[in-house]
Amino acid sequence: MGKPCFQVAVIRGDGIGTEVVDSAIAIIEAACARVGGFQLNYADITAGARYFQETGRDMAPGAEDVVSSADAIFLGAIGLPSIRHKDGTEISPHLRLRERLQLYAGVRPARAYPNAPCRLADGRGSQIDLVILRESTEGLFFSAAAHDRCPVANDQEVQDVLRITRQTTEKLHDFAFNLARKRKQRGGLGKVTCVDKANVFRSMAFFRKIFDERAAHNADIEVGYDYVDAMALDLIRKPWEFDVLVMENMFGDILSDLAGGLVGGMGVASCAEIGDSHGLFQPAHGSAPDIMGRDKANPLAAILSGALMLDYLADKSCRDALRDAARLIDLAVENGFARGRLRPMEFGGDQGTRAITSELLQLVGDTDVVRQTANGGF
Ligand code: ATP
Repeated sequence: MGKPCFQVAVIRGDGIGTEVVDSAIAIIEAACARVGGFQLNYADITAGARYFQETGRDMAPGAEDVVSSADAIFLGAIGLPSIRHKDGTEISPHLRLRERLQLYAGVRPARAYPNAPCRLADGRGSQIDLVILRESTEGLFFSAAAHDRCPVANDQEVQDVLRITRQTTEKLHDFAFNLARKRKQRGGLGKVTCVDKANVFRSMAFFRKIFDERAAHNADIEVGYDYVDAMALDLIRKPWEFDVLVMENMFGDILSDLAGGLVGGMGVASCAEIGDSHGLFQPAHGSAPDIMGRDKANPLAAILSGALMLDYLADKSCRDALRDAARLIDLAVENGFARGRLRPMEFGGDQGTRAITSELLQLVGDTDVVRQTANGGF
């Protein structure tokens, strides 16, 4: 019998997207080869702002079907500020993919690595290990996925709708509790904080009501509440006290950048977007045109997103070898920082994309993984 094989649709996209994807695939392949027992096959998908400029389409014909049938999707970054739709918005087929594939759970970890810059003076900043769980199909991005939902009326007025549905919100909160439970098995706090603005908006009061309903079914997990404005304050004052933070789309968009900044910058901000049957993995940063093509991009966010993808495939296929490969990448990054072997330019160090990739290839070779008995997952 041959090795189990998983299909990964790869969208390199624009700007530094292409650079960080090449780096991430090299590391993913090294980790998979070291662990052995399975294989990833990659299908290249052409999409993005540059492609839109050349063809008037944001994805190649048939690409959405290839993406939809893959076991996982790996994305670099899409969008360039210089190439836009007539209404000024950026080219963003990934918003459409989120909706089409119902990728409601946006998982955005923020974790402090040893020797990486901590932006807080308080030494407890080194303990930051939290996940922003950003709903990714509705909320205030509902109208962004299809502009005809909220057209500008006579050049006089426009509205954007904040949509919260019971069906998606129940699944989102359940995802949050399951995530906190998995993290607890690895030493996490086992806590979910509902971040909203339930004191002002009916949509947010409904979001919290459903949170309470689902909390009653997950009594082993501690719950907390924070209004989004207070959360912005608490993420600076005491981010080490949080574990999983669940929130609507736009709040998550903003606070996940803030959380990424707390632990260094966007170059370590990984991201998974998970639905009931699909998963898309990408660094949380954009195409960073200011540094593209200059070997300056930090590929670690893409690499850590690759580890999230392997973990997801492990859950989906019930194969521990994939989880071992994910853990190997996580540990190699951790060791690299702890031993001073990872020094990204983004953090004032001397390593660009290629240097980080080759150092990490060695670290993957040097690092040993002990299989954990508990079901891992991110
Ligand atoms: P988007 O809206 O598409 O997420 P953005 O406008 O938030 O994009 P980014 O492209 O993420 O912007 O870039 C924001 C800043 O962070 C830029 O100065 C960019 O150079 C820097 N940056 C982003 N990603 C990286 C990276 N991987 N390595 C180094 N610097 C990065």
